[in-house]
Amino acid sequence: MTIDLRKILGLGLTLQEYEEHVLGGETPYFEQADLIFECTHCGQCCSRPGVVYLTDADMEKMSDHFDLPIREVQTRWLTEDYDGEWMIEVERGRDCPFFIEERCAIHAVKPQQCQTYPFWPEIVGTQESWEDEREHCPGIDRGAWYSAEQVRRLLLGLDRTP
Ligand code: SF4
Ligand code: SF4
Repeated sequence: MTIDLRKILGLGLTLQEYEEHVLGGETPYFEQADLIFECTHCGQCCSRPGVVYLTDADMEKMSDHFDLPIREVQTRWLTEDYDGEWMIEVERGRDCPFFIEERCAIHAVKPQQCQTYPFWPEIVGTQESWEDEREHCPGIDRGAWYSAEQVRRLLLGLDRTP
C-alpha cells in the first residue's frame, strides 16, 4: 500500500519537509528499524501534564458518544487555544478528566492523539527520541513489533494502537 505522507499527523509537513526540518535530513528511525511497543496500561500518559489536541472527527465522535452537542462537549471538557484548536488540558498534578478509576473512560472514542501514542512524528523520528520516551512510557521496547508500514499508518491516523 502506498501512503501519502504529505498528511503526516500533527506536523502538517510532507515527508521530505519532515526529514529536512525535523530530522536534519536523516531517514526517520521507524524506517530503519522495527519498533517494539505494547501498552502496559500504566496510565502515565493520562496523568502527565500537557495537552491533547482534538480533530473535528474526534469531537464528533465524543459528541455521539455522550449524546451531547459538540458545543456542550467543548464547554464541559475542552479548551480553545489562540489558533482556534480545541484541546484537553492536563495540568501538573492532575489527571486527564477522562482518566477515571485508572483507565480511560472514553477508550473507544479517545482522541487520535491518544490512539496513536507513542507513534508520534517527534518520537519515532530518531532512535534517541524513541529511547528517551521510555522514561514516560514503559510500553516502549516490550511486546509487539511495528513495521515501518504500520508506523506510517499510525502517523496518518489510519490505525490505532490496541
Ligand atoms: S501508552 Fe505507555 S504510558 Fe500510556 S498507558 Fe500505555 S504503557 Fe503507559
Ligand atoms: S482521553 Fe483517555 S487516553 Fe487520552 S489522555 Fe485522557 S484518559 Fe488518557
